[in-house]
Amino acid sequence: MLKIKTRILTIEDIAADKDKIEAAAKLLRDGEVVAFPTETVYGLGANALDPEAVKKIFTAKGRPGDNPLIVHIADIGQWSGLAEAIPESAQALARAFWPGPLTIILKKREVVPHEVTAGLDTVAVRMPSHPVARSLIAAARVPIAAPSANFSGRPSPTTARHVLEDLEGRIPLILDGGRADVGVESTVVDMAREVPVLLRPGGITREMLEQVLGRVEVDPGIMSPIREDRPVPSPGMKYKHYAPKAPVTVFRGSEDRIRLAIDREARRQQRWGKKVGILATDDNKDFYTAGIVRSMGSRARPADLAASLFALLREFDELGVDTILAEGVDPHDEGLAVMNRLARAAGFHFIDV
Ligand code: AMP
Ligand code: MG
Repeated sequence: MLKIKTRILTIEDIAADKDKIEAAAKLLRDGEVVAFPTETVYGLGANALDPEAVKKIFTAKGRPGDNPLIVHIADIGQWSGLAEAIPESAQALARAFWPGPLTIILKKREVVPHEVTAGLDTVAVRMPSHPVARSLIAAARVPIAAPSANFSGRPSPTTARHVLEDLEGRIPLILDGGRADVGVESTVVDMAREVPVLLRPGGITREMLEQVLGRVEVDPGIMSPIREDRPVPSPGMKYKHYAPKAPVTVFRGSEDRIRLAIDREARRQQRWGKKVGILATDDNKDFYTAGIVRSMGSRARPADLAASLFALLREFDELGVDTILAEGVDPHDEGLAVMNRLARAAGFHFIDV
């Protein structure tokens, strides 16, 4: 791929001069890709209605062509241009959680190119809340297809620096909007079926969805590997994801046993001369007697765990650890998103203690 110069605009640049957003929006309208901040993770956007522009996202990321993209809108009116008949239940979700970290899947309209949906007859739509994302999409005046702005397979970027690490020389522009608050990708709920199905957990939790929808099914692919003999409901679930360079092992069980087992394993690996990273929580971080310990935050606030997860996986890469031992957390509220991302980063390598 031909190397191009990657420019970064800081939040101060953007705030000082509104022509900067206009210029970024023009790049998008001209069929280019732009990385931008959202409240979940950084996205790599292109005009969702321009198949050639959308193809550039796949090239820049090295993303498999059968993994569909989420279409981002700034205005609720754009939704009906993308999705067919929007049922009342989906509208209720939008009223409750948009703008915000929720993606809703419905039957697609003809105009949505198959490059965006990877040939599916459904389209995933989200209205982000980050002010830079909103003003960029509004200024572009077209819906913006955007996956996470990482190189395919790597942990998603929660800062502009993470985007630069992965995509420098591959994209023309990064808008820096500071650290992403939620820190994991949006919740994905499939509303194109009889019963709503949670396909990917995120900042809008299963419990929050149930308050609006009543019953929500949870796709089994969220916590276990996709079986080869079943159709894949959400193609992204097939791939190894969010993976740092070192292998990850996730320990599940009671907290006491988890920390004992991790400490024992860390000491063992260290004796073999291995550099060990321990992905811990505030509750247990002082217990460990070996390894490089980083805490995701307090178990009492699972949203904090989600917010720091990807940045810590990248930090372990930079530290050059040989293996990462991760504390499993309670899979409730935002903890379900944490466990889903950890499971994928680990290639479902769990140790139950
Ligand atoms: P990313 O934005 O990189 O987190 O990727 C978007 C994810 O949304 C993909 O991995 C898919 O699994 C999911 N997705 C997008 N569109 C659809 C769709 N039409 N049906 C099911 N899943 C989808
Ligand atoms: Mg992604």
